[in-house]
Parts: sequence; C-alpha cells; structure tokens
Amino acid sequence: LESVHSVAPEIADKIVQELADQRTNLKLIASENYCSLPTQLAMGNLLTDKYSEGFPYHRFYAGCDNVDAVESRAAQIACEIFGADYAYVQPHSGADANLIAYWAILNQRIEVPGLEEIGESNPSNLSREDWDRLRERLGNQRLLGLDYYSGGHLTHGYRHNVSAQMFDSYTYTVDRETGLLDYDAIEAQAEEIKPLILLAGYSAYPRKIDFKRMRRIADKVGAVLMVDMAHFAGLVAGGVFSGDFDPVAHAHVVTTTTHKTLRGPRGGMILCTEEFAEAVNKGCPMVIGGPLPHIMAAKAVAFTEAAKPEFREYAARIVDNCQTLAADCQAEGMTIATGGTDNHLFLIDVRGFGLTGRQAESVLRECGITLNRNSLPFDPNGAWYTSGLRVGTAAVTTLGMGKGEMKEIASIIGTVLGNTRPATVTKGKNAGKSSKARYEISEEVAAAAKQR
Ligand code: PLP
Repeated sequence: LESVHSVAPEIADKIVQELADQRTNLKLIASENYCSLPTQLAMGNLLTDKYSEGFPYHRFYAGCDNVDAVESRAAQIACEIFGADYAYVQPHSGADANLIAYWAILNQRIEVPGLEEIGESNPSNLSREDWDRLRERLGNQRLLGLDYYSGGHLTHGYRHNVSAQMFDSYTYTVDRETGLLDYDAIEAQAEEIKPLILLAGYSAYPRKIDFKRMRRIADKVGAVLMVDMAHFAGLVAGGVFSGDFDPVAHAHVVTTTTHKTLRGPRGGMILCTEEFAEAVNKGCPMVIGGPLPHIMAAKAVAFTEAAKPEFREYAARIVDNCQTLAADCQAEGMTIATGGTDNHLFLIDVRGFGLTGRQAESVLRECGITLNRNSLPFDPNGAWYTSGLRVGTAAVTTLGMGKGEMKEIASIIGTVLGNTRPATVTKGKNAGKSSKARYEISEEVAAAAKQR
C-alpha cells in the first residue's frame, strides 16, 4: 500500500479506512463476503494491462498466450466445480452476465430464423426497414422472471432496467399467504404467456428453488430455462443445493456473480449446455469489449479454493448459521418472512417494531451492524423505505463465526430495534407525523450495542 500512498495518499487512506470499516462493523449484507488474500493478489497486478478481446486461442490481439492459459484454466475449474458443459468467465459483473445470456439466447433461438425470414443472412446488408422488423421481432420476445418485490433482481425485467426494454417482460410473484413460490401458479402463467425465457433466481428469496420443476415448466411451454444463481453459487459449488435444487443440472443457461457466496473477485460468469456455448462465447463483441485478465486470474484462484473439501464445509456452515440466526431472531420476537430460511439469507419484517426498513438499516449501522433494507413481497412501504431487512451469513461464516455468535447477533439486533422509535417530523406538510427515515435511540443503548 506504500506505493499507492506515494501517488495518491487520499486513496490509500480510504483503502485502510475501508479495511477498518469492514473489520469493526459486522458484515451481514447477504451479497457480500471476504475473498481470500490469494484472490485479492491475483487481481491486483499487471494482468490488467493486457487486451484480449475474443476468446482463448482466438483473439483480436497479439501476445495473449498467458491470458489464454488463465481464462482456459478458470473456465475448466468452473466446469469441474459446477458440473457444467461450458463456462464463460469473461463477464465483468452479474449484470453483464445476464445481458450476455439474454443476447445469446435471443441469438441462438431467434436471430438467425428472424434474419432468414427477412430474407437476408448477413446483418450488415440489412436495410433500415429490415432492421426495424428484426428489432420488433426481438422486442416481442417474452421474459418471465421473479418480481423485484418478491426477491427478483433488477436485471430480471424490472421496468427501469434495460432487460425490460429488450423484452416484453412479465413477472411471477410469491404466494401472498406463504411468501413461497407457487409452482402451479408459475406453470399456469407460463402456459398463458409462452415466454422465450423462463428465469429463476433471486437476490432476496430465503428458500430453495425446485429447478427440476422449473425445467419441466420451461419444457412444457417451449421456453429456455435460465437461472441466475448470483446469490447462491457458493451453495451450489459447495454441494448444499444438489439434485432437484442444483440449477446447473436442470437449466439451459446459468448466470452468476463470483463475489457473493462463491467468495471470489467481483465479477460474473455464465455456465451453459453445449447448445448455447457458441452463442454465449460471443459475449465479446456482442456485449462487452476487452475481458479483465486480472479478474479472470482471481476467478481461477477462487474456483480452485471452491473445489477444496473445506469449501463444502464452509457452504454447509453458511446455511447452518443462517438457520440458527433466523431462529434466534424469532426467539427475540422478530417476524421472519416465510418463517425461516434454506439458504444464506433471510428477511426480517420490521413493522412489528413500528419502523421502516430504512430506519432499521440506519440504526443498526449506527450500532455497528452493516446490512441492507429490503422490500418484502407486496411491501406497503415500497422499494425506498421498505418494511424489511435482508440478513446474510456468508461473510460472518468466513470469519469463523458459529452458533454462539449468531445468538449474540440476534440479541443485539433485537435490543437495538426494540429500543428505536421513529422520529417525529418537525417541518413541512408532514409536521407532527412519524418520519419514515429518521429515528431515535438513546445514546446509552447505541453505545452498549456497539460495544458488544
Ligand atoms: N443477479 C442477481 C440475482 C443479483 O443479486 C445481482 C447483484 O446483486 C446481480 C445479478 C448483479 O450483479 P452485479 O452487481 O455484479 O452486476
């Protein structure tokens, strides 16, 4: 860090402060983790200086021998740990991976027949009118994914995301009573909508998904089953989600991030069957430019770690800790969406404390716990204030925490939320009403919680 300091001391200081922040506040953000030092070092080096557009041994630049070896190795280990036919390790992020997967599926299933129908096989010779017809054809394709408020991701067809511009996008929700996916309802909706892509996967759903059932639904309606396992890839690699719950065994295309439960560098990846490999491999130039060789090197390091038996133990402990923490929070009087969890995350409904998710998130941060507010299904407080907190155990499990610590964490969360009240708005048209953002907690309670 001294060399960074010699050039940009203010940046070096922030890196050191971030280290202090991540070590002194308890990290319960479900999408975060602590990657290993070998993974960090593999991404912090001169590999960043290399351009390598194309794919291994088929590049648009000279001198890519080392990058070829790095990328091939990362893809090979990914195939091994996930049992996949094909792995594409270039996506810079989970959002990139989804965008590439969408275009690959459109390309594989739609674009060529679309062009033939138009009567022209070389896209560069198409007239403006032909392009408009082709675009219309692509734009009429349907995507059916989990609703954002039921735990789906922005890139799954949310109205403000480009995915909703690319597709005629539809969503399924969880059951209003149970908070669970209702496969019969999804099947009925899929039969009606006939999507090109049936998308499974989530950012905030606390239960397993039956991917075998989802594939049956996809097959019945002629859809491609795409799974976004960004959140739970580590649980798949670690063997916690197997059989009917293993996405790679059942989906045509699987996308993921590499930095959540998988504990690698910040990045993305696509796994797919042979049928989609050629289309996925066109991620560059279809969607991205130059890959990030240093990040692909770090992916290879992290995947090598994930192939070890210790990683299987780690993945199992994430879920044990999560189930323990959810049960301990319930014992502290908190309402847990769906009554518990099967994975690395759960959702606390904070309405019982008279708070919004925003207030709960802020007061816990003041008391040394970092987590994020999250909408609950059909949330009356919307996506900004929310009524929920999302709690994840991947990072604290990396730190070696177990049952004793989960009990202590639940007790701190219960004490903090139980002693917090919404502040009263003093000015403007809402004067005298409860604030949805600001809160009050006594200095003694906050200090004692932080101390613990
Ligand atoms: N897909 C899911 C399910 C996610 O939860 C996320 C991020 O939280 C993403 C995709 C996007 O990943 P990234 O932030 O790397 O673009």
